Amino acid sequence: MGAGLTVGALECLFTGSVWAEGPLWVPSSQTVRWSDIPNDRILEFDPATGLTREYARGVGFSNGRTLDADGTVIQCSHGRRRVERDRGGAVTGLIGSFRGRMLNSPNDVVVARDSSIWFTDPPYGILPGTKEGHEGEQEYGGCYVFRFQPAEGILTPMITDLVHPNGLAFSSDESVLYVADTAGPAHGVPLRVVAYDVRGDACHRNGTALELEDGHAADGLRVDVQDRIWTSAGPAVRIYSPSFELLGTVEVPERVSNLCFGGPDGQDLYITATTSLYRIRTTTRGAHNVGSQEPA
Ligand code: MG
Repeated sequence: MGAGLTVGALECLFTGSVWAEGPLWVPSSQTVRWSDIPNDRILEFDPATGLTREYARGVGFSNGRTLDADGTVIQCSHGRRRVERDRGGAVTGLIGSFRGRMLNSPNDVVVARDSSIWFTDPPYGILPGTKEGHEGEQEYGGCYVFRFQPAEGILTPMITDLVHPNGLAFSSDESVLYVADTAGPAHGVPLRVVAYDVRGDACHRNGTALELEDGHAADGLRVDVQDRIWTSAGPAVRIYSPSFELLGTVEVPERVSNLCFGGPDGQDLYITATTSLYRIRTTTRGAHNVGSQEPA
């Protein structure tokens, strides 16, 4: 149960994706936008009407998304191997290479208060047989968490010691960055969420980590205003304290990929899970991606 952090029952709002990912509350349209990656399309749910529409198709296998300080959508593209900006449907690339080599397949992204864009770059969109992009080489030879400073055009690898960095979220004061690693035992590491202290131009593991020992991966995650961590964990959303004490669980009928806070007051939790979009009411709001929480 949600330990007083959720209210009422989980609702299924839409079914019909193959692999739903990358949910984001878009204040300007008061909708939830998300990716249906294998179908190479972006969907939008309008809570005012209860209807879902196709926002765009042939979208370069988009994945995670967030807002910048202007409220513009920043999204990851597996197929175009880049991080890009979507301004009302006009999509332009922001970051596609590191030291002259292509990125792997950017997966998830957050924007810090200083406008820097932080994103993960695992290989899921370029692996042999992928249905979430196009097969390709890992050109720079790693899977990093990067920070991009748009004003200066500087791309910096901030975390290089994870195997498949995936979901990521800052603590409310941005002193800690939580990063999910979905590589798992096949790669010799646990399924985990690792906490890093962020100090200037460096990230250091602070010794706090969550290891999921039941075979359920943490993929997308968010932090609320009281610094609780809301993470996907197999067929559930789990809520943890900053030291990873389990505070609550929201069971979901399908495997969860990602989640976001949203709705008119920011207290609705939207959950992408395999074929479907779900929602549950909460008693809190998201700490990060502040723009996505604010009423328009
Ligand atoms: Mg992901």
